[in-house]
Amino acid sequence: MKNTNFDQKYYRGRFAPSPTGELHFGSLLAAMASYADARSHNGHWLLRIDDIDQARVVVNSDKHILSTLEHCGFQWDENVTYQSQCLNNYQDTLLKLNRTEQTFACTCSRKQIKEQSEQLGIKNGVYPGTCRNHHKSLTTSQEHAIRLKTSGDKLSFFDHVQGQYTQNLQKEVGDFIIYRRDKVFSYQLSVVVDDFHSDITHIVRGFDLLDSTPKQIFLQRLLNYPQPDYAHIPLAVNQNDLKLSKLSHAQKVDCNISTLVLAANFLGQKCPDAKEFDNKDDFWQYLVTYWDINRVPKMEKQMILV
Ligand SMILES: [Zn+2]
Repeated sequence: MKNTNFDQKYYRGRFAPSPTGELHFGSLLAAMASYADARSHNGHWLLRIDDIDQARVVVNSDKHILSTLEHCGFQWDENVTYQSQCLNNYQDTLLKLNRTEQTFACTCSRKQIKEQSEQLGIKNGVYPGTCRNHHKSLTTSQEHAIRLKTSGDKLSFFDHVQGQYTQNLQKEVGDFIIYRRDKVFSYQLSVVVDDFHSDITHIVRGFDLLDSTPKQIFLQRLLNYPQPDYAHIPLAVNQNDLKLSKLSHAQKVDCNISTLVLAANFLGQKCPDAKEFDNKDDFWQYLVTYWDINRVPKMEKQMILV
């Protein structure tokens, strides 16, 4: 349902699910936290379908996610956007970055990166910088990824749930991919460009994206984009310590008030019992009125049985 009651611009939040399956409890938490935080600031709340990686898209799951959100009582502002419809924006930004000489072509395979890292004694998964100074041309004819040269400076930001977070991109990540070898714009690039174009001021999302944030801030700085505020909420894991996701066979959210209350309490909000609420509107009104992000547990994950 579209909500057009708000016109303040100082808070623009968003929820950006990947259409890879049904909305499960883990994604309900991110939706709820971003929604409650936006609405408690009289802000806008936007929906974006992160379908940049078309190979992972499950047909019609975007529609299922939207209808589950609506059924749960979420109301969003503006039209839903799709990454797959914004490819021109990513292309323009990639060209802009290529002109800064901050990018380079990388032909390394995963296996080569692993071997080179081992040889050089670099942490597994960190790009060892192999192609950085080879000046391979950025062509579309040859198969290569495009990486961004990172800096060895410490990058730090304040997270509204997790507190101060610092990362040395070069040491802990290495030069990272912004355009994949299989000709897909990277998640990092597309998210930064989308958030900029939608004028997003606040990002509330799951802990698993905390270590992506320095990469995104690095990109924002290169592109002279404003830096949004960040908050990363704990992940819900099952009794086997697996993140609730399609892979762990998490169930579709049933949208009962008791499920909404369970999610609110997972987020540290001291919500009354489900039977205290007459209907979902009543629940949302309560949550938005009493929402306090400082109560969200400052932890990576919590177990939940749903
Ligand atoms: Zn390489």
